[in-house]
Amino acid sequence: MADKSAQAASRKSSKFQKELQDIHKKQQKRKLKSSIELDPAINIDEYTAFAEHLKSSTRILALLGAGLSAASGIPTFRGAGGFWREHDVTDLASPEGFFKNPSLVWQFYNYRRHQALTAMPNRAHIALAKLAKQKPGFLAITQNIDGLSEQANHSPSQLERIHGSLFEVRCTNKACEFQETNYTDPIVPALQLPEDQDIGDANFPLREVPRADLPHCPKCVDSLLRPGIVLFGEAVPQPVTERIGEWLDKGQIDLMLVIGTTAIVYPAAGYIHIARVNHARVAVVDMEVKDGDDVQREQDGDWFFQGDASVIVPELLKEVIGRVP
Ligand SMILES: [Zn+2]
Repeated sequence: MADKSAQAASRKSSKFQKELQDIHKKQQKRKLKSSIELDPAINIDEYTAFAEHLKSSTRILALLGAGLSAASGIPTFRGAGGFWREHDVTDLASPEGFFKNPSLVWQFYNYRRHQALTAMPNRAHIALAKLAKQKPGFLAITQNIDGLSEQANHSPSQLERIHGSLFEVRCTNKACEFQETNYTDPIVPALQLPEDQDIGDANFPLREVPRADLPHCPKCVDSLLRPGIVLFGEAVPQPVTERIGEWLDKGQIDLMLVIGTTAIVYPAAGYIHIARVNHARVAVVDMEVKDGDDVQREQDGDWFFQGDASVIVPELLKEVIGRVP
């Protein structure tokens, strides 16, 4: 009898133990949830599953877009419908636009260079740079031209810039191969921004900068320099696509991170497709709500974390990189 009651007590106690454990687990999850400041819509089980998958992943591909730099104050000039002053950005950011009015286009890019140089990388840039250090098999493909990943010390060998950089300039003369990395702000004295006016505001008249005062090639002298970014209608530079191709050819991909980009435009969308074919699970971090038409980006089994990348990305990567200050 005593044995029986002891057994019952033990059963009770083990049941109690289990309940305690469950409560403890729930508390842990709640604790985790409160410490990670994720949007309440984010499922904590998905977050935990993601963190586990990340830990065991060696080959990780990331596709980075404008949403990554949003918290650093870098404005998005979206291709379609984007305007700077009264000008359609698709006109400003085209080879035709540049040759038609290099003064205007250089003022636009000099302005963007200044904005990017005065901005700071945010916690998401820093978190991704740390991930690159922790995981040698991680490659980030960025669509951003602002140089903030570089500023966050993201290893250059683990960062491919498919749209170029505001801080690369090259000669417009195709026969001349001059190109350089240039962080001078303003790039030439004539492009000095007024101190008391924001030239992005169309209410202020924009002065004409004579062609002679625009950045010129130091090698062939007569030719203008141009921003080393991929303009509309231009292809991603071949060395970049080749290096990405080499990385992809190395085989299976464990995880694909899609951060701050709708990724419906090729070649960006193509990389997600390739990652899927190579068995990657896909995690999307974006401010915008899921778009039903965005089928390329999302499928069953994907993770979707909605919110500000600068908040979410450091939390998602925390298990591997530690806490980002
Ligand atoms: Zn030249």
